[in-house]
Amino acid sequence: MRRPILAANWKMHKTAGEAADFAAAFLPLVKDADAVDVVVAPPFTALDRLASALAGSNVALAAKNVSPEPQGAFTGEVSVGMLAELGCRYAIVGHSERRTLFGETDGFVARKAAALFAAGLVPIVCVGESLEEREAGRTTAVVGAQIDGSLAEVPAERASALVVAYEPIWAIGTGRTATPEMAQEVHAFVRERLRGRFGDAARDIRIQYGGSVKPDNVDSLMAQPDIDGALVGGASLDPAAFARIVHFEGPGREPSGRSGRPS
Ligand code: PEP
Repeated sequence: MRRPILAANWKMHKTAGEAADFAAAFLPLVKDADAVDVVVAPPFTALDRLASALAGSNVALAAKNVSPEPQGAFTGEVSVGMLAELGCRYAIVGHSERRTLFGETDGFVARKAAALFAAGLVPIVCVGESLEEREAGRTTAVVGAQIDGSLAEVPAERASALVVAYEPIWAIGTGRTATPEMAQEVHAFVRERLRGRFGDAARDIRIQYGGSVKPDNVDSLMAQPDIDGALVGGASLDPAAFARIVHFEGPGREPSGRSGRPS
């Protein structure tokens, strides 16, 4: 059974004060969401304040990046130890904006994922193809290579805790979502690839879909058998919209909530 995981990626939005305001509005809306994992990833500057606001709640804290280095002369970087001390349970790594705008490679992402696991945090590792790659029929080649490269240092015994986010780049922030069937096709491919690498643990690995997930499309996406959650950018900035996403409805979820789905 895979427990759904709905995560907010705030990108470079919200000050610490705005993050606290979000928490005040959002927590009452999701206090009954006990059958899913809810995660919020604010900017680094809001982590401490949000950690206080989320204390004792059912919403977990995540970072949106991390250095693979434990400490040292790495100006502008933040280590896993710093994130752990603030109460982060997850960190997003390999987001397409990091890969395309900041030149992050699969090898660099792999080192970050390993550092997170070593510190007891869970990496949310993002993969996804560009429009050009999709139109050239290269989606599985690109995503397969990202899976192999970015997860190369995941310890086999921790693999089942891993979270992978499939985010087609052409669907991020564009309002253009993959259809549920398109997303499911790639998710099934990702799970097979994970099976090749981690064996039976692949059954437990949660694969999120990301790319213009909104209250009005989350239900059909979450109804797909290999879509175990969502990584949400724009729609996660609004407490009511993200709460609706957390409370997705449909065949994948019983009205009173659920504890997982058959794998
Ligand atoms: C993202 O930033 O990971 C994302 C999926 O953004 P959006 O939901 O805005 O497309």
